[in-house]
Amino acid sequence: MVDIATTDVAEIRIDPLRNHRTLYTKRAFRADEVIVEFAARQVHSNPNYLTIQIGEDRHIELLPEYLECTNHSCDPNCFFDTASMRLISTKPIEEGDELTFFYPSTEWEMDRAFQCTCGSSNCIGLIQGAKYLTDDKLRQYRLTDFIEQKLASRCP
Ligand SMILES: [Zn+2]
Repeated sequence: MVDIATTDVAEIRIDPLRNHRTLYTKRAFRADEVIVEFAARQVHSNPNYLTIQIGEDRHIELLPEYLECTNHSCDPNCFFDTASMRLISTKPIEEGDELTFFYPSTEWEMDRAFQCTCGSSNCIGLIQGAKYLTDDKLRQYRLTDFIEQKLASRCP
């Protein structure tokens, strides 16, 4: 692991095995604590691998920018609340833990699917957005208001 950037909350490291950026905490958080507030650096009408979905045809690039290094896990420890624009811890987090969120908690339909290798016992495998998951599976996670609206309007 190589540290390439540091903030007061977290630091970006390069994972040489997976060859991608990862985000590690620099302090501990209790469950349901605000890790950091975020904002839209830019809004796009289509998703890309760095964006977070905040509404129909609305996908934001994040500020602070380091948050784009937050990777997916099927057993995540944080949640992007796009209503309050706060990154919230969903469980206690130790200093030095990797910050991860469940991509389908914000993303309805991703631009590129990938095979998850998070290694958690409840790993769902192919990650392609909430649209492709059952309500039962999604109910195990905290979801954005937008994803909740999409679920409420989809046919049973
Ligand atoms: Zn997984």
